[in-house]
Amino acid sequence: MSYVEEIYERVTLQNPGEPEFHQAAKEVLDSLKLVIDANEEKYRSAGLLERFVEPERIISFRVPWMDDQGKVHVNKGYRVQFNSSIGPYKGGLRFHPSVNQSVLKFLGFEQVLKNSLTGLPMGGGKGGSNFDPKGKSDAEVMRFCQSFMTELYRHVGANVDVPAGDIGVGGREVGYLFGQYKRITGLYEGVLTGKGLTFGGSLARTEATGYGLVYMLEEMLKHHGKELEGKTVLVSGSGNVAIYAAQKAQSLGAKVVAMSDSNGYVYDKDGIKLDIMKEIKEVRRGRVKDYADQVPGAVYTEGKGIWTIPCDIALPCATQNELNLEDAKTLKSNGCFAVAEGANMPSTREATDFFVENGILFMPGKAANAGGVAVSGLEQSQNSLRLSWTFEEVDGRLKGIMADIYAKAADAAERYGVKGNYVAGANIAGFEKVATAMMSQGIV
Ligand code: NDP
Repeated sequence: MSYVEEIYERVTLQNPGEPEFHQAAKEVLDSLKLVIDANEEKYRSAGLLERFVEPERIISFRVPWMDDQGKVHVNKGYRVQFNSSIGPYKGGLRFHPSVNQSVLKFLGFEQVLKNSLTGLPMGGGKGGSNFDPKGKSDAEVMRFCQSFMTELYRHVGANVDVPAGDIGVGGREVGYLFGQYKRITGLYEGVLTGKGLTFGGSLARTEATGYGLVYMLEEMLKHHGKELEGKTVLVSGSGNVAIYAAQKAQSLGAKVVAMSDSNGYVYDKDGIKLDIMKEIKEVRRGRVKDYADQVPGAVYTEGKGIWTIPCDIALPCATQNELNLEDAKTLKSNGCFAVAEGANMPSTREATDFFVENGILFMPGKAANAGGVAVSGLEQSQNSLRLSWTFEEVDGRLKGIMADIYAKAADAAERYGVKGNYVAGANIAGFEKVATAMMSQGIV
């Protein structure tokens, strides 16, 4: 059995009941096989892969909070501190009913490689809770966030672990978490990113993941003699990543004709009017269905199905495993030629393989959505410098970082004889830096 196969078997045996973590580990390990085979003796004797797939630490805790009626609820809270070989842990917090240890381990594992790709000194982590902020009042969300941070504060810090937002954690939640950290510790430091602009947040952080995704898409298209202008685009989701991906794509001349949420999707053949969508999602915290009620000609469909709409380019920006093999085949037969992942692991393994094997230009999430964490890294830099850079400065650096990630993934794929396979390229490029750091730091 090869070293990679041995490690995958170990992952499944030692982490029972964690399908998302198994899926992420398999995808990464499979594409690292070429690198591992080339260094097998060295890595085996250092137990490198055994350490690479095992989080340094998982913190799990109780989060009690009181609703507006005075009833007490208890949620689960977690922080997975996966790997700190190239910098302090860094990665988002997710508040969603589907959160469990498996989901956070998959996200933390991916984060290690993603953060490495950005070129910034950030290790990988992820955390969150099975709390659902949807339908809760601001006061309830505040009490929950305060309770969550009352435990988490012991484990984080500007030079230790710097969480950020993710699904269900936006500016409001980060604000409440930051306030409670400061209150307990007395420290005014960059312990979280995605903060408000009046208290240490970075310009362009809100837009960063979506914009970065489209910069990466443009880069990939350019290298294949294609362009975004005039193309029809589908964007799944309607949260932070989806909205700013749609905005940047439209500003570069593409037409985004559909967006979705977990209830259904809306199709607007004239192109989604983002001012209306943003008002619904960001101000009213409403549903995409409201868009069809408001915009004549727009059609709302309940349930899944966004990938059945004909398009040139698909940008899955909602959640893991939202695009399966059937969807991938439908996209191709409808003429879709490029897919870039705004969400983390939105395509199933079968769908990913189909894209790669059928000549669809495919950029995986760990490269395509790294703009968010990259600008979080820039927020940390600004906090340390006690400075604020302009929007243009941050956006310019973001663009440079995305181009650099593209170059690294393309180069690694080419070096290992799988030119154009950005799944392998991104995994290899991210891994090489982490592996070198781990090998240099002894057995830790
Ligand atoms: P948001 O909470 O802002 O938005 C999430 C969107 O996805 C919402 O429209 C939501 O719909 C939809 N969604 C969530 N769960 C499901 C589901 N099970 N089925 C269908 N739709 C669903 O999160 P973000 O935009 O921040 O995150 C989206 C993805 O991007 C995640 O995979 C995240 O990990 C990834 N990502 C985010 C980064 C960031 O900077 N925010 C950085 C890198 C990656 P509904 O309102 O109905 O729940």
